[in-house]
Amino acid sequence: MGIVVENITKQYGSFRAVDNVSLEVKTGSLVALLGPSGSGKSTLLRMIAGLETPDSGEIWLIGENATYKSVQDRHIGFVFQHYALFKHLTVRQNIAFPLEIRKVPKAKIQGRVEELLELVQLRGLGDRYPSQLSGGQRQRVALARSLAVQPSILLLDEPFGALDAKVRKELRAGLRKLHEDVHVTTVLVTHDQEEAMEVADQIVVMNHGRVEQIGSSAEIYDQPASPFVMSFIGPVNVLPSNTGILPDSDLTLRTNEQVFLRPHDILIHTSPAEDTAPAKVYRIINLGWEIRVELVLKSGETVTAFLSREQFSKLNIREEQRVYIKSKQAKVFPTYAMS
Ligand code: ADP
Ligand code: MG
Repeated sequence: MGIVVENITKQYGSFRAVDNVSLEVKTGSLVALLGPSGSGKSTLLRMIAGLETPDSGEIWLIGENATYKSVQDRHIGFVFQHYALFKHLTVRQNIAFPLEIRKVPKAKIQGRVEELLELVQLRGLGDRYPSQLSGGQRQRVALARSLAVQPSILLLDEPFGALDAKVRKELRAGLRKLHEDVHVTTVLVTHDQEEAMEVADQIVVMNHGRVEQIGSSAEIYDQPASPFVMSFIGPVNVLPSNTGILPDSDLTLRTNEQVFLRPHDILIHTSPAEDTAPAKVYRIINLGWEIRVELVLKSGETVTAFLSREQFSKLNIREEQRVYIKSKQAKVFPTYAMS
């Protein structure tokens, strides 16, 4: 196992930032820590790095108990959101820096730097200074520098967080490709569910310092373990128990339960069918690649359905029209206060 975190807790004063967290990262895999801001992701990552000491629990790196090892002894590469490059050094010199302080022979450094430039697709930019690079290019230099000493573990804390959406997408794809080339055991911290789902082999969903669920992107999307996970990973409608919309008419609900429906799982009929509930089309939002239909139920609740263009043109519905809806699948959870 690359990383084993066992019952780790970290408290600041009376506030528990990380609360009894356990997880495993297989050697060579890429795991994302995903959760909203303040959920304890960075604190956990910093404990894996050795920048922070846990109050209790153990951290094992590559088969060794590393809980009290120094940062230097953990052989870890880092990239943070604002990982300042050395301004007065060129790209090549920045990447070479960690090798030079380890007194690696010059000839060897040169070869390794060229290899790393190639790996992060910055060949040709080696002689530039950081100020002559875009934000995305700078983060790729930071990535190359963190990999220079061939760390056994790579920790990335929102490395693309400060960049705009388009660049972030490119870097994501680049990171996945790089991971497939290098296969260093990697933990990526992100609050962006799409980023986690696109890049990671396994996702650890965190909330309030605790692990809510660990699984592949398909697992956490299709079988969310909690209302928090279902709401955080993808869009959802949350309805009280008495609206009549359920995938299965045999299912009976208690009043303290809620129904969670994915907008993609809602079927719209233009005439009554088995298990459907009447609704009125309130608004149609055509995004081009998909059509969002806002519906109002008899109970007054609003439900949003996402339709493909084909589904929408077949249905031929318009605003104000009376329709009948049902859900292909739904989850029932005890009533939950979002926070
Ligand atoms: P995330 O990375 O998920 O946004 P953090 O791990 O940075 O969350 O923080 C988790 C919680 O711990 C936050 O409420 C934060 O304010 C608190 N926290 C983090 N570091 C410290 C610290 N050094 N002292 C006090 N509170 C901290
Ligand atoms: Mg953070």
